[in-house]
Amino acid sequence: MNVLVTGAAGYIGSICSEFLLSRGYQVIALDNLQEGHAAAVPPAATFCRADLGIRSQIEEVFSHHKPDAVMHFAGEALVAKSVREPSTFYAANIAGGVNLLDAMIRHNVKKLIFSSTAATYGEPHTVPIPEDHSKSPINPYGKSKLRFEEILSDYRAYTGLHYATLRYFNAAGASAERGEAHRVETHLIPKVLDAALGLIPQLEIFGSDYPTPDGTCVRDYIHVLDIADSHVRALESIEKVSGEAFNVGNSRGFSILEVLDAAEGITGRKIPRKFSPRRPGDPAVLVASKEKLHRILGWQAQHSSLDEIITSAWTWKQKHPHGYSEAASR
Ligand code: UDP
Repeated sequence: MNVLVTGAAGYIGSICSEFLLSRGYQVIALDNLQEGHAAAVPPAATFCRADLGIRSQIEEVFSHHKPDAVMHFAGEALVAKSVREPSTFYAANIAGGVNLLDAMIRHNVKKLIFSSTAATYGEPHTVPIPEDHSKSPINPYGKSKLRFEEILSDYRAYTGLHYATLRYFNAAGASAERGEAHRVETHLIPKVLDAALGLIPQLEIFGSDYPTPDGTCVRDYIHVLDIADSHVRALESIEKVSGEAFNVGNSRGFSILEVLDAAEGITGRKIPRKFSPRRPGDPAVLVASKEKLHRILGWQAQHSSLDEIITSAWTWKQKHPHGYSEAASR
């Protein structure tokens, strides 16, 4: 099967591409390389530089490569950026997504796995969060993903699209070959490791007055390889699970101070830190119920202990302290 992976040069898209290839799928890797890295795209994938904002470019990819299914990772994903620049998020995550859906319909491609997010829930009133929890996102990132989930349900009703939505909690960790490297890094675990390596002077902890046991935010970290596995399972059962949303998390939350402690143990280094004000748009606690993904798709996290997540990220970071080489071209 030929799977079109959008955002295939990004962190999760590149590792899911690697995982798909290892399972015998062919991968058409689409990315505009605005945030992604050409060097992250697995060499066995067919790379297409294209932008979901430009319909003619998407059309060309579909006409030439004839995908059978799509995994849609491309989009804007930083909460803090979304509160500064909401229009970028609505353009990329909604308008770009609709352009992709229309190309799928034109080309009779009826299978889609969509990357959504825990940010669609907002501040949870129950933890762990089940999929039918109320949706009141508190930032434009979460709102843009929720609107697209609603749009998908219309395409299913009116065009016969089969889709499944995967709402990731905090993706983290690395494969042997690929890891997390954003041009401007904002994510906790890579920044903690940057501080361990002395690449930044200290880790800033955003907020010490949240209603959590130690006052810092609690998140559910999930290994990117376990996320990749959830995608393949959803694709392989797409007709059975069409229209469904699944959390992808580990049902276990860790505070920022707990992540720092674990990282100090794994790296054997003291990690300088300082407390800073809260970051706008951050809920206090996000922890998934993973029950549905397990019950319906038989998924079990294989790599998502906090130690394995940080160890894999640390191994990758030591080999690639400055991320991917930008010199690579495809
Ligand atoms: N965080 C932090 N310092 C940093 C980066 C992140 O304190 O340098 C906090 C952030 O406020 C949030 C948690 O770590 O509570 C996870 O943030 P991240 O950006 O990794 O993922 P998000 O939860 O936004 O998807």
